[in-house]
Amino acid sequence: MPSYQAPLRDFRFVMDEVLDYPRHYAQLPQAEEITPDVVSAILEEGARFTREVLLPLNQTGDEQGCRLEGGEVLTPSGFKEAYAQYVEGGWPSLSGDTAYHGQGLPTSLGMMLSEMVCSTNLAWGMYPGLSQGAADALRHHGSDEQKAQYLTKLNDGTWTGSMCLTEPQCGTDLGLIKTRARPDEAGGCLITGTKIFISAGEHDLAENIVHLVLAKLPDAPEGTKGISLFVVPKYLPDAEGEIGERNAVSCGALEHKMGIHGNATCVMNFDGARGYLVGEPHKGLTCMFTMMNVARIGVGIQGLGLMEVSFQNALAYARDRLQMRALSGTREADKPADSIISHPDVRRMLLTQKAFTEGGRMLVLHAAQLADRIEYATDATGCEAAETELGLLTPIVKAFLTEVGFEATNEGVQVFGGHGYIREWGMEQYVRDARITRLYEGTTGIQALDLLGRKVLMSQGEALKSFTRQIHKFCQAHEGNDAMAEFVTPLAKLNAEWGDLTMAVGMKAMQDREEVGAASFDYLMYAGYVTLAFFWARAAQAAHQALSGNPDDAAFYRAKLDTARFYYQRLLPRTRAHAEMIRAGGETLMSMQAEDFEHGFAI
Ligand SMILES: Cc1cc2nc3c(=O)[nH]c(=O)nc-3n(C[C@H](O)[C@H](O)[C@H](O)COP(=O)(O)OP(=O)(O)OC[C@H]3O[C@@H](n4cnc5c(N)ncnc54)[C@H](O)[C@@H]3O)c2cc1C
Repeated sequence: MPSYQAPLRDFRFVMDEVLDYPRHYAQLPQAEEITPDVVSAILEEGARFTREVLLPLNQTGDEQGCRLEGGEVLTPSGFKEAYAQYVEGGWPSLSGDTAYHGQGLPTSLGMMLSEMVCSTNLAWGMYPGLSQGAADALRHHGSDEQKAQYLTKLNDGTWTGSMCLTEPQCGTDLGLIKTRARPDEAGGCLITGTKIFISAGEHDLAENIVHLVLAKLPDAPEGTKGISLFVVPKYLPDAEGEIGERNAVSCGALEHKMGIHGNATCVMNFDGARGYLVGEPHKGLTCMFTMMNVARIGVGIQGLGLMEVSFQNALAYARDRLQMRALSGTREADKPADSIISHPDVRRMLLTQKAFTEGGRMLVLHAAQLADRIEYATDATGCEAAETELGLLTPIVKAFLTEVGFEATNEGVQVFGGHGYIREWGMEQYVRDARITRLYEGTTGIQALDLLGRKVLMSQGEALKSFTRQIHKFCQAHEGNDAMAEFVTPLAKLNAEWGDLTMAVGMKAMQDREEVGAASFDYLMYAGYVTLAFFWARAAQAAHQALSGNPDDAAFYRAKLDTARFYYQRLLPRTRAHAEMIRAGGETLMSMQAEDFEHGFAI
C-alpha cells in the first residue's frame, strides 16, 4: 500500500517564508483565532486524519467501487465510517459561515486540508468537496430561508451536496439543457429531466443530499441566458427542518469509469421533483459560477494532491530499488547494484514531480490568500483587485495543475518500472484518478479559452497586466543581486514575452476569432510555466535568505534551490515550444476540411 506523510514542513515554508501568511492572517477579521499554534494544530490533526483514516481506504475503495442496489448507492467499505469521523471532527464546518454552524476559519485552511484529502483518497474527498461548492452557491445566492435550512446542514456535514449540470446532449454547452422546471401552486417548481455524470449524486454517507440543479423555466429565453438554478433535496425538509418526505429524484444508474471508483458517478432522474429557485429566474449560470469557481480551484488541488503522493512513493521506491551501477562507477559497493535514484533519468522524473508539486503548492496557497481576501475584504478596491487576480489564476490552477498532475503521476509509474503498472503498488491508480481532473469542471480546452478569451483579451489585457506587473516588480527588486540572476533574468524575459504573445494573438484575433481557440491551449500552458517560475523564483529568494542565517535544516533550503534550478533549466524551456506554437497561428488547424480528416482510412 502506498504511504503518505503530509508535507507539513513544506506548508510551513510556503506559508511563513514565501507568502507571508502570518501577516495575511493578522489582517483577517479572525486574526485573534488563527494564531500560528491553531494553524499548526489544524494541519497536524488533518495530517493524522488523512493518513490514518482515509489512506487505508484508497486502494480498497478503488477495487470495490460503488454499487447500486434497489435504487440506493452503497459506497466502498469504510467510506461511511470515515465520513462519520470527518463530521465528528468538525471538518465540514471548518471555513463555513458562523451564522450557519460554520467555524468561520479562513478558506485557505480548508484548501490545505483539501490537498491532504486529495493525496490520500481523492474519490472519498469528492463527497465533502461537492458539499463545499453547494454551500458556497447557497451562501451567495440563496434566500435567508434557504440558508437557514440547507447551509446549516451542509456546514455540519449532516447533509451533503451535488452539482447537477450535465445532460446527455450537453456538457460544455449548458445552453442545450433540456431539464424543465414547472412552477406549481405551492410556490416551488417541479423539476423534470435527466442529468448524467453526477458525482456524489447518490450515496450512503449522509442522511440527505442537496442537489443544485440547472433547469429551464417555461418562459426561459434560448441558450445560456435562460438557465435557472434550483435546490432539490433528496428528502424534503419537514416543519422542523429535518428530513421528511422523499422527493422524486433518484439514481437510475452508476457509470463504470477509468478511475475515482470510490466516488459514485450517477445518472440522476428528476421525475417532477420539488425544487426551489435559487437567486433570480434565468440567472442560474451566474449562481452556478460561484460553485464552479470554488470547484475549479478544488480540482487544481486534486492534481496537486495526487502529484504529492505519487512523488513520495516514487521517491521511496527509487531509494530502495537496486538496478545497475551508476554510469560514473559504483556508488553502493556493499550492495549488488546501486539504487535507481543514482541514475540521471530517474532523477529527471523525480525532480519533475517535485518541481511541479512544490511549485503548484505555492500557486494554490497564493490563490487561497486571494480567496481569503475576497471573502473578508473590508475595502471594495482590495476586493476587486483580488477578484480580478483570482479570476485570471483560476483556469491556470485548474488546468495547468491537472495537466502537469497527470504527467507527474505518470512519471510516478515510470519510476517503478513494470511494477508501476501492477495494481498492488497503487501507482497506476493515481494516473487513472488524475485523468478525470483534466476533464470535469470544464476541460483543459475550455479553461484555456476562459483564460485567453475572457480573462485576458476581454479585459483588454488589464487582468494580465496587473499580474505581470507583480512579476516585473519582483524582478526589479532583485536586479543586481548576483545570487538571484539565474532566476530573475529569464523570468523578466518571459514576463515581457508573455505580454508580446498576448498582443500578437489579440491582433490576429481581430481579423479572425478562430485565432483565440487556435492559441488557447499553448497560451494556457505558457502562462502556467511562467506563473510557476515566478513562485519558484520567490522560493529561491526565501531559501537564499534562510541559508544566509546558517539554519539547522540547511539541507531543506539547499534542496529548494536545487529544485528551483531544475525547474528553470529543465522544465521552463518548454515555454519555447509553446511560444512557437502560439505564434504559428491557426491556419494549419483550420485549413483542412472536416471531411478530409479521414482520407487514408480506406484502401
Ligand atoms: C467522472 C465524472 C464526473 C463528473 N461529475 C460531474 C458533476 O458532478 N456534475 C456535472 O454536472 N457534471 C459532471 N461531469 C461532467 C463533466 O463536467 C463534463 O464531462 C465536462 O464538462 C465535458 O463535457 P462533455 O463530456 O459533454 O464533453 P463535450 O462538451 O462534448 O466536449 C468534448 C470535447 O470537445 C471540446 N470542446 C467542446 N466545446 C468546445 C469549444 N467551444 N471550444 C473548444 N473545445 C470544445 C472539449 O474540450 C472536449 O475535449 C462529470 C464527468 C465525469 C466523467
